[in-house]
Amino acid sequence: MGRFKVRKDDITWDHCTMVEPPNKTYLKCNYCGEKFHGGVYRMKHHLARTRKDAKLCSKVPDNVTALFDKMLKDKENEKAKQNDEMFDLGGNDEDNFIDVNAPRPPKRDHVGGGSVGNRGGNIDKIFSKKANQTTLNEHWKKEEREKAIRKIARFFYCNNIAFNVANDFFFKDMVQCLTKFGPRFKPPSYHELRVPLLKKEVAYVNDIMQDFRDK
Ligand SMILES: [Zn+2]
Repeated sequence: MGRFKVRKDDITWDHCTMVEPPNKTYLKCNYCGEKFHGGVYRMKHHLARTRKDAKLCSKVPDNVTALFDKMLKDKENEKAKQNDEMFDLGGNDEDNFIDVNAPRPPKRDHVGGGSVGNRGGNIDKIFSKKANQTTLNEHWKKEEREKAIRKIARFFYCNNIAFNVANDFFFKDMVQCLTKFGPRFKPPSYHELRVPLLKKEVAYVNDIMQDFRDK
């Protein structure tokens, strides 16, 4: 069943009860009294009566079933849409995206141009863009962004990468490039990094230096 993200504001909690608090994965349906493991994920399917991953609820009112059914379908649709846009999740709040360690601002409900005040080149503008955001499900986006930035953070911590690298142009440029490429991106191998890419980079830097000397 994997792990479950538990959110207190999930409306599923209005329709079920923890059997053994604070264990949030073993729940009892408030309508039929059925108890099962699997947390709110299964409870949603139980209430939505999807026949997927959980027994159907025999007593849930139709309007509640409709609500959960819609919620699950919306989530699936958003997931499909989001696959190529994983990294544009920070919305218009560029600091939120760039600084993995920064505390979140209390409110992020401003809509529009974004904050382009600080030494912004194109990258900053791209990161703060609100592409397609209005069509996306806020709730899902937050969860997915949380997953993504945790992976990035882990990469930093496990490799002793200094936190200020998060502000580095080449870091942002790399992430932006990945987002454009999409889900089929294959990262460079040890060999590619060590031989062909290094050669190209050395040649590139030499070219720049040559230009500089010619001036
Ligand atoms: Zn039930």
